[in-house]
Amino acid sequence: MLIQFQREKCIGCNYCVEVCPERWQMSRRDGKSVLLGGKLKRNMVQVEVGEHERDANEKAAEICPVKIIRVSP
Ligand code: SF4
Repeated sequence: MLIQFQREKCIGCNYCVEVCPERWQMSRRDGKSVLLGGKLKRNMVQVEVGEHERDANEKAAEICPVKIIRVSP
């Protein structure tokens, strides 16, 4: 499954880190979230992960107040 993240719109609320610390971390440099292992591709940070990470990342996508995390398919 693919996780996509529109990082420039992150408001640094930390919610994604709280529900999925294995894949999300706050940056001390700019106060935005970091998608661990992610690569920048057409303005989106993306990473392909295993099915076992689905639940926690779907939670992160749901809880994100600015809806910039997408999990697919
Ligand atoms: S939940 Fe959304 S806005 Fe909040 S830190 Fe994570 S990506 Fe950024």
